[in-house]
Amino acid sequence: MDHRALHKLSYGLYIIGSRKDDRLNAQVANTVFQVTAEPPVIAVSINKGNLTHEFITASGVFSASTLCSDTPLSFIGNFGFKSGREMNKLDGIAYKIGETGAPVITENAVAYLEARVIQQVDVGTHTLFIGEVVSAEVMSEKACMTYDYYRQVKRGTAPAAAPSYTAEERKAGPRMAKYRCTVCGYIYDTEMGDPESNIKPGTPFEQLPDDWTCPVCGASKGQFEKMEE
Ligand code: FE
Repeated sequence: MDHRALHKLSYGLYIIGSRKDDRLNAQVANTVFQVTAEPPVIAVSINKGNLTHEFITASGVFSASTLCSDTPLSFIGNFGFKSGREMNKLDGIAYKIGETGAPVITENAVAYLEARVIQQVDVGTHTLFIGEVVSAEVMSEKACMTYDYYRQVKRGTAPAAAPSYTAEERKAGPRMAKYRCTVCGYIYDTEMGDPESNIKPGTPFEQLPDDWTCPVCGASKGQFEKMEE
């Protein structure tokens, strides 16, 4: 079986919000899809170990905010690599309380949907929550983030088209080193630098400031390992 075929499925990137009594939480997910049009029903797959899973199970409601393509890595990392059990992930984030009472993330979002769970399917590690849409709004006409774009470009698992380098220059110089975050898999590509942290292209990993952290998950420099060619 060629697992790469699974990477040929297309997804977006969403922040899923829910509540349990007066507690709010949200997490990132790529698996939101529309199931039926009339009435509008959507589904989302959530890992059973996540706090959001506990919250959706308890309240029977969730929101899904569609992220725009220029969403900063740190924003996604806040919802993807941190747990609401240890911190309030909504601190400092723009959101509102929706019709269902679930938090709706409005920051970096082009649109949102709110749903009430009508059915849930146990799929082993995850639960597929199926919900009827009860409210929806488009907030921006910006481009949406796709999961592929996030994986390949934003997270650095594939080189972006670095505008400051031409193909000839790349060929001429030695290949620049890459370092992988052992926590989240983000790759620091020397050739690209880390524009979101004002690290210029070509900055060697060793010369990154000591307080530089993984732009996705916040891991320290020491949690990175050099990648083989
Ligand atoms: Fe990381």
